[in-house]
Amino acid sequence: MLDLWYKNAIMYTLNVATYMDGNDDGIGDFKGLTDRLDHIAKLGVNCVWLLPFYPSPRLDYGYDVTDYYNVAPELGTLGDFVEFSHQARLRGLRLVIDLPINHTSDQHPWFIDARADPHSPFRDYYIWSRTKPLNANDGVVFPGYQSRVWTYDSRARAWYFHRFYPHQPDLDIMNEAVRNEIFKIVGFWVELGVSGFRIDAAPFVVEEVRPDEPIRRRYEFFGELRNFLSWRKGDAILLAEANVLPNEMPEYFGDGTRLHMLFAFLANQYSFLTFARQDAEPLIRGLKMLPRLPQLGQWAHFLRNHDELDLGRLSEEERAECYAQFASDPDMQLYGRGIRRRLAPMFNGERRRIELAFSLMFSLPGTPVIYYGDELGMGDDLSLPERWPVRTCMQWSDEPNAGFSTVEEERLIHPAIMEGPHGAANINVVVQQRDPDSLLNWVRRLVDVRESCSEVGWGEIEIIETDHPSVFAHRTEADGNTTVILHNLCDQACCVRVTLKEDEIGNLTDLFGNRVYDANNDDAQVFALDGYGYRWFRRDGLRR
Ligand code: MG
Repeated sequence: MLDLWYKNAIMYTLNVATYMDGNDDGIGDFKGLTDRLDHIAKLGVNCVWLLPFYPSPRLDYGYDVTDYYNVAPELGTLGDFVEFSHQARLRGLRLVIDLPINHTSDQHPWFIDARADPHSPFRDYYIWSRTKPLNANDGVVFPGYQSRVWTYDSRARAWYFHRFYPHQPDLDIMNEAVRNEIFKIVGFWVELGVSGFRIDAAPFVVEEVRPDEPIRRRYEFFGELRNFLSWRKGDAILLAEANVLPNEMPEYFGDGTRLHMLFAFLANQYSFLTFARQDAEPLIRGLKMLPRLPQLGQWAHFLRNHDELDLGRLSEEERAECYAQFASDPDMQLYGRGIRRRLAPMFNGERRRIELAFSLMFSLPGTPVIYYGDELGMGDDLSLPERWPVRTCMQWSDEPNAGFSTVEEERLIHPAIMEGPHGAANINVVVQQRDPDSLLNWVRRLVDVRESCSEVGWGEIEIIETDHPSVFAHRTEADGNTTVILHNLCDQACCVRVTLKEDEIGNLTDLFGNRVYDANNDDAQVFALDGYGYRWFRRDGLRR
């Protein structure tokens, strides 16, 4: 078998700025993160994905970069990064870093130079129009908060293209100098110990944009990037943020020659519809839409991330069902397509629903990704604008600022949630560390079980028929091992008949679940499930 580490990885994602403040200035940094690496390592995960940590005016959470070859001074130095990278490696943790190269900050020296001088070598790093393009207001990414995608720059005396906010001018991927610059950035960070890159806004990265012309996507760039990366570091990966239609997905994988991984946005959206309806059908429908992966391809599954929960691929009625369940107040909704809340509050902090959601996400063929703080059941701060409610400080203890920093509260760059059912007074690492029944310790067990079932990462999904509409049952097989996993999406307990293969009957070992194996059951194909219950079974290939 090929040694594709990402096939059986479990990722943990965080923003350095909100994780741990190591120098008491109110902003998280690499010193603090390095100090807390043991929390991450003891979760059992084996890969950390860092959100952008580059120098940035931080108008878009660091996705507005002014220097790709450095660490933001408020987060530390390149020396601190290398120290962190070394300490992570000692703990068996690989690093994936964010690569926001669709656009730069308008404060990037390239753009400053480009707008000042039409003959600058950096002018054509960006996309210009002498006249106002006809489609200047179409295709905004943040409806309600962004009004256009072309903005007039009086210094340049031209319009520039920005798929995101006006302070984020798009780089022109059609320019060879830009492509070479991206390769150089990638080459730089692999030398510092990075094992992969999360390509931000991937569908927009490969857009060929010209004023008043239809947009074309130049997916070949992903193959060029893959080629470059593979020669620099053979086992490094590319993971794309691409919330695209199923028929476009093969372009990203390129039959194994382009990107290694895509975030499973579709599975994510249909999972939440399935939770809202307490019915397995939407999830089965969503999973069936996904194309078959090439051998080197992989899905990255997640429940929540640092952005809104994007439900844009569901129908309007389906989205309304999700809103009714998880975001009934319009203030909890965002951009007409999503929910700006964390996982635990969406489920009213109900432990068995949180477990169900985690267990389901971990059981889908692919690589699970945990958003920092969700291992504790952290909450959101809806008084913050747009996507910021889910970006509060990590809750380490019940001390001031959740133990994140010792500065006065007003000096925190991002707030910490102290009060309320999900605040640090109740929910924090210290409390959950010493409680064997805490969510934190339960997530550790889940990680442990998932890592012992490599077929979930390697195999393809096979949906198993049951006689209960609320039960989602599936099987994954690889290398002679089989995992059969059951989830009851409904709050009522049930007994479900599951169609097993002949050699599975009586040969399944109960690995994990919210109840113990019922050994006295006379029908081996009937399983009892609690309300929101889940059970993982395995047939070990060595014992056939
Ligand atoms: Mg600091």
